Amino acid sequence: MTLPHPDDRPAYVEGMDRSRLLVVEDDAGIGANLERALGNAGYDVSWVDTAATARAVTEPPDLVLLDLGLPDGDGLEVAREYLARWPGLPILMLTARTEEMDVVIGLDTGAADYITKPFRLAELLARVRAHLRRPDSTTNARTLTDGDLTVDLDARRAVLAGTELQLRAKEFDLLTELLSHKGQALTRESLMSNVWDEHWFGSTKTLDVHMASLRRRLGEQPGDPSRITSLRGVGYRWEPAG
Ligand code: CA
Repeated sequence: MTLPHPDDRPAYVEGMDRSRLLVVEDDAGIGANLERALGNAGYDVSWVDTAATARAVTEPPDLVLLDLGLPDGDGLEVAREYLARWPGLPILMLTARTEEMDVVIGLDTGAADYITKPFRLAELLARVRAHLRRPDSTTNARTLTDGDLTVDLDARRAVLAGTELQLRAKEFDLLTELLSHKGQALTRESLMSNVWDEHWFGSTKTLDVHMASLRRRLGEQPGDPSRITSLRGVGYRWEPAG
């Protein structure tokens, strides 16, 4: 009699995505469910249940599902640590309250996303797939493109429909920040801290002024913005072309 090799996988896993997912979740029920469901979906899943064990992980996973409220620490701190170690690592935060979403959006990264508990498994799986597909545009690529707009980060040149845009330094930085997070809501606070100063807590009037002038240079018509959407009470979002 031959015992199955521990590495043997069910046949349906053959040829499927073997991305390595790390689940950080202290709720045993949720953690076990995620481990089983993601494993059934063909992923290689590791599950830890404390901030300490999460910090001790040395091999970068392909994606992290991270509970915000951990018994021995703040999930957000773990996220910051991970992103410092592995820039561009996709992190899907599991948040218990919708108020926490601002905190997550404000996290200084294009990699982070959130999903609120209770979540539907199908939605979670869809998010996981989307993040694993997304190319890491912020850490490696030195050129950002969107439709007829190309931004060369090294040369600090922005070309729209074949014409180079004359941008002031902060307008260029603002454009880069928005374009690096296409389709994602960026809070006013995160834009201010990332574009202007890391520890900026004052008025965001400067942001409005620069956003208005950036829109003009992009040829946006007032009241009919096509690339940059204002999110009332939150911030801005770059709308991907096409
Ligand atoms: Ca928790």
